Amino acid sequence: MNRSGIEAPIGLLGGTFDPIHFGHLRLAEEARDSLGLGSITLIPAGDPPHRSSPQSDGRTRLALVRRAVEGNAKLQVDAGEVDAQGKSYTVLTLERLRAEYGPDRSIVLILGADAFKALHTWHRWREIPGLAHIAVANRPGTAPHGRRWPGVLAPELDQVCADRIRSDPADLRTAPAGLVMPFDMTPLAISASLIRDLIRSGHSARYLLPDSVLDYIDSNHLYR
Ligand code: ATP
Repeated sequence: MNRSGIEAPIGLLGGTFDPIHFGHLRLAEEARDSLGLGSITLIPAGDPPHRSSPQSDGRTRLALVRRAVEGNAKLQVDAGEVDAQGKSYTVLTLERLRAEYGPDRSIVLILGADAFKALHTWHRWREIPGLAHIAVANRPGTAPHGRRWPGVLAPELDQVCADRIRSDPADLRTAPAGLVMPFDMTPLAISASLIRDLIRSGHSARYLLPDSVLDYIDSNHLYR
């Protein structure tokens, strides 16, 4: 609750987190800081629908995410998708959390630009803006957002999202859902695939992810 008595919006960051790295953690931290979010909940996917099976199972990726957020009370972890049977569809998670937080609480789904550009391929994606705001961060390797952005979106995405785009984070408190908010974060060209490749080929992944996560990966011989 802030001084005005309005509860700060909640941020949600879903991902495969195979494994979690500093790109994810800075995305969460910078979204919280620049958009004025109260806390961020990280939601590891159990069975992600849009990619080949993760290399580590859901329980292992959940354990890595828990290690990564240790000591930071503003970062929470939701095990709902790992615990659930079947595909991890974001719309189902948003329905569950919307029921938990009630119709008035502002909820912000945080996506990297690459994930946002694929939004129109997600299960029941047109319902997502009705359940949460969407905050989109730049990511190296994906064309930056900004004025040119709507034009490069797939036409379907443009139809649903273009007139919802806002730039003032204060707008996220004026409604529980429905806006699209691009924001800038420190560009970090870190990906889970890069980390998996480094480990598989016997190279160091140190300083791309927290030591506590790397220690767990090493002791459990993951990604070899
Ligand atoms: P992979 O390399 O296996 O595809 P990834 O590094 O993209 O994985 P995901 O778990 O798929 O990680 O990403 C979860 C979310 O975090 C997505 O919205 C993605 O766009 C975002 N994200 C991941 N890494 C970064 C980064 N370096 N900068 C900005 N956003 C990122």
